[in-house]
Amino acid sequence: MNAETLSSLFRLFQKAAAQADWKSALETLAMELRPFIVFDNLAVYLVDPRTNGLEIVYARALGRGKTAEADAAWGDRIAAEVMAKDALVIETPPLKFKPHTDRLEMSHLLGLPLHEGKRLGGVIVFVRFGGPEFSDEHLHVAALASTWISCLLERRAWQDTYHQLDEVQRRIRLQDDFLATISHELRTPLGFIKGYSTTLLRQDTSWDANTQREFLAIIEEEADRLTQLIEDLLESARLQSNTLQFKFQPMRMDALIRDVVLRIKQRHPGLSITLDFGPIQPIPGDNIHLARVFENLFSNAIKYAPNSPLEVSALQEGDTLHVRFIDHGPGIPPEHQSMIFERFYRVPGEHMVSTGTGLGLYICHQIIMAHHGKIWVESTPGHGATFHIQLPLDASAYSAT
Ligand code: ADP
Repeated sequence: MNAETLSSLFRLFQKAAAQADWKSALETLAMELRPFIVFDNLAVYLVDPRTNGLEIVYARALGRGKTAEADAAWGDRIAAEVMAKDALVIETPPLKFKPHTDRLEMSHLLGLPLHEGKRLGGVIVFVRFGGPEFSDEHLHVAALASTWISCLLERRAWQDTYHQLDEVQRRIRLQDDFLATISHELRTPLGFIKGYSTTLLRQDTSWDANTQREFLAIIEEEADRLTQLIEDLLESARLQSNTLQFKFQPMRMDALIRDVVLRIKQRHPGLSITLDFGPIQPIPGDNIHLARVFENLFSNAIKYAPNSPLEVSALQEGDTLHVRFIDHGPGIPPEHQSMIFERFYRVPGEHMVSTGTGLGLYICHQIIMAHHGKIWVESTPGHGATFHIQLPLDASAYSAT
């Protein structure tokens, strides 16, 4: 191989290495390697760590036999042989090429092992239909390409590990934040309860009936807050361990939402809530848990979108019931929208009110999932948030559980 070829190859490897991900790098390599080694198709197989079997992860047909792209079965046998020998394997067709022979039946195959560190991680297979045989120079290029792809695989493995570690760290941080939040959330109501009851019990002071009622109302409110918090914790633990029981029966979503609204209005009489229900049929659901979902959405809207009017609509769309829960508060920044349904996740920043554990939307998500439905949020910061819930109308969606 002359110096010029080597430096062009080197430039190609550099170009491929600069791609954003390993599949684009492979694609660049496959598309531009042909001046150095003549091949019609190329396939890359990797060992699937779960099954230990070989899985095709990339196949490209560039020359003759383009239709073979989707079906890389032509490389399966040689790939298995390379794995068994952990060495280069060349397969030449048994017949000599004659003018009338179908070139696609005269495949010259070249398979080389790919390593991830010391581990045999996969195989790259080149195929050339009709010949000529792979020359020594082609074998060198193929060996260089396989070494380079091995480096790529190793880099990918490191990147995967890095992302996994990052995710683990993020979860640990969430749990640490959660511990800090939960101790605060437990202490605050307890502090109020203790403070006001001690005040009421003082021998040296007498309180008029109005003040007593006011203090007792605060104690009751804080005790409710504690109860709610403990329920959230228990429910989240049950959901996490799959031990929360669901009782599915035909229920009317409009009636359920009206009930929740009545309860919310008792506590927040000034809240503006508009309901808009189309004609909706009963759906299979667990009343108690679904009511919990809407209680959480209302309590979030009250916390994070104070004074905002709220709208709740429910419409049948195809074979689903689509509920929209709309507020006109500060909204949720796009980068946090998918994460707010995670356990313990709270959007950091100035809008964060002090009360909250990051469990509410996780609980909503799990309950909706148990109903084979979907929940997501759409929001443009500054223009409020719309929570969408879609539930199947048909009980047959539940037959799997
Ligand atoms: P918590 O309210 O206990 O923090 P949730 O799981 O109910 O936990 O909500 C997760 C986060 O989503 C909240 O901390 C808040 O930042 C954000 N959030 C939820 N609902 C709204 C809303 N209606 N408007 C703006 N932000 C919201």
